[in-house]
Order: sequence, then structure tokens, then C-alpha cells
Amino acid sequence: MSEKLSIEDVDVSGKKILMRVDFNVPLEDGKVNDDTRIRAALPTIEVLLSRGAKLVLASHLGRPEGEYKTELKMDPVASRLTEILGKTVKKLDQVAGPDVSSAVAGLGEGDILILENLRFEKGEEKNDPDFARQLAEPFDLFVNDAFGTAHRAHASTAGVADYIPAVAGLLMKKEIEELTRALENPQRPLTAILGGAKVSDKINVIRRFLNLADNLLVGGGMANTFLAAEGSQLGASFYEKDLLGEAGALLAESKESRCNLVLPIDLAVTRELKPGGYSEVMTPDQIDGDWKAVDIGPETAAIFCGYLEESAMIIWNGPLGVFEVPPFDSGTELIAQAVADSNAYSVVGGGDLVAALSALGLTRDISFISTGGGATLEFWEGRELPGITALQDK
Ligand code: ADP
Ligand code: MG
Repeated sequence: MSEKLSIEDVDVSGKKILMRVDFNVPLEDGKVNDDTRIRAALPTIEVLLSRGAKLVLASHLGRPEGEYKTELKMDPVASRLTEILGKTVKKLDQVAGPDVSSAVAGLGEGDILILENLRFEKGEEKNDPDFARQLAEPFDLFVNDAFGTAHRAHASTAGVADYIPAVAGLLMKKEIEELTRALENPQRPLTAILGGAKVSDKINVIRRFLNLADNLLVGGGMANTFLAAEGSQLGASFYEKDLLGEAGALLAESKESRCNLVLPIDLAVTRELKPGGYSEVMTPDQIDGDWKAVDIGPETAAIFCGYLEESAMIIWNGPLGVFEVPPFDSGTELIAQAVADSNAYSVVGGGDLVAALSALGLTRDISFISTGGGATLEFWEGRELPGITALQDK
């Protein structure tokens, strides 16, 4: 990928800047209940303000689908950002138009405001050129720091760049650098861990990692599909019947590749998936009747940990079991602990895995945690992300 310009390469002082952020945060009782995404944009916001930019933030929140929804207004986000910055962040009730233009014209250097929810506008998700032009109109420069929406070609991620120069914010720049590192310049042995529910969601990532990594450790519902493709019956376990052919093809490809594809040799199984539910450990061949495989077993975890100890680089997407229902988070927890304890550079991505690691309190010793879910996966697949393509090349 060609290198992109960032805010470090351009003069921002006195410039009217539209900055796309990913403030799509969870709300509860009209308040922000997790401000991780807001905090992730702070480095860029602080640098721009300290360099005298006139800064206007814009984000989507939830799925209003082009309609005005009172419960999805950006006010709670503006309040939280005001608290964090210790500086009033005014919120406008519009996304574009004359009121926005006059508010932007009135900004001084180091001032900040935030627009209303971008997805109240029908033109946003359609990437409508007229809307993109209106959105860009009051500004000199576009800064995109919303890596989490970079895989969408929307007016505020791609379209605006047709009207004003577009550069990366610091978060976007870091995401690109860190996610590229494993793809283009891996330290070896490189171990990839893949979990989560479905092979079908991640075929291209599986194939990419198979061609890239020295070891590919597979867990989660995805592993069940591979085990079924090898002929295991697996009782009532979740797996994708229509993906057995594709999983078989990937297993055959792994035989030809340098990569060791490692599947679970034992699994935590239960008949009733509920918190604290009764479970046993079985080999894939032992699972029958109404038993379901819902986590990797202890021997598998030990084998995975052995690979991780010897790795110089680790990339991980997807939880290794049904982590939402303890104790079936324990495989994910053991592996997270091993990743944290290892000296390897480690990069983790995927909405559910990151949520699992946060819930387990095991995020601290990971080298890089991507803020993208779908965007991270598409990046790893090697797809072009419209929000990145739209940025100016160095
Ligand atoms: P990520 O968001 O990290 O990419 P996914 O969305 O692919 O991960 O998968 C997460 C989901 O996979 C979780 O809801 C989890 O319960 C489910 N899952 C993991 N292991 C299993 C399993 N053995 N059987 C059924 N579902 C599973
Ligand atoms: Mg997910």
C-alpha cells in the first residue's frame, strides 16, 4: 500500500478542519457507557488544537438510516468529550448547511465543535456527491481518524475527499502501520490465531494467514467446521454444513503450505449453554447426541501456548469459545494470558475478541489492539478500504 499523508505532513494552523471520528459508542440512559472510542481519537484532537486548527468533529452513532432519531443525537458524546478534554465542545444540531457554515466561520484557532449524527442524512451512507460537497463546503482540510468505518464508502469517509484535501489522523496512521507490519514485514515465527463463529465470515483472512504465517491456530465455532470437514461428527455443535467443502479445500492447501494449521484436539462441551453450565472435555470423535463444543479444551490450550511461547509475532482475531457464557471464556482467557506473557509483538483485532479481552482485563500487555472490527478484517484480507484509498498519497 502506498504511504498516505497524515496531519504530521501538513500545515494545520488556522485551517478549518473537518475530522471524521468513530464515536459510535454504546449509550445507556442517555449517557456514554464506554468512552474507549472517544479516547482513541484524543491524540489527534489534542495535536490539532495545540497547533491552532479550527476543529470540527463528525461521527455516526447507531443506525438511524437517514432519519432523525432523538435518542441518537450526538449530545451525550459532546458532553463526555467536554469532560475528557476539560474544554467545552459545542454541538451543532445540523450536519451540513448554512448554520454549520456560519458556526465554522466563527471558530477561532484551537476551538472545537461537533456536528450532529452523520447518519441522520440520507446522503451519508449512499455517498451522495451533493451531500459530500455540502459537507466539505465550509472546510479547508479533511482529516480521517475513523479507522473503524474505513471499509465503508460513505460521504464522510470517501466522498468528501473529492472536494477538499484528505489526510490521515494519528489513530488512522497507527492502525495502518501496525496492521501492515505483520503483513509486510513479519518477524518469525509468526503465529496467527483465528476464532469466532464462522468460516464463511473469514475465508479470505484464513487463506491470507495460511499463506503468511508459520502457524495458524484455529478455535471457536470456526474450528468445528474444520473438524467436521475432517470427518468428526460433533453432536449438536455449531458448524457450517455448507462450508465443509471450502474448509476441506483450506485443509488441503495447508498441507502444501509452510504453515502448520493446528486444530483443537480436545473441546469443552456442554448440553446446555448457560452461565456456569455443566461441562466436560471430549475429543472431537467423542462428541455425540446433544453435546455441543463451545470452547477449546485444556490440552489444546497447552499446545497453542507452546506455539505462542516460541513466536516472535502474533496476530489474533476472534474468540476461541462462547466467551459470553462463562466458563466458556476460559480457552480465550488462557490464550490471552499466554499472548500477554510472551515477548512477541502481538496485534489483536475483531469486535468480539476485543470485547472479550476487555471483559477479562487482559488488554494491557498486547502490543496493539485495533479499533476496527470489519475494517480490520478487510485490511487483513488485503482488500482496498475506501476510507484509506481516499487519503492523499505521500
Ligand atoms: P470477532 O468479532 O472477534 O471477529 P466473531 O464475530 O467472528 O469474532 O465471532 C464471535 C462469536 O463467536 C461470539 O459470539 C462467540 O460466542 C462465537 N463462538 C465462539 N466459539 C463458538 C463455538 N464453539 N460455538 C458457537 N459459537 C462460538
Ligand atoms: Mg464479531
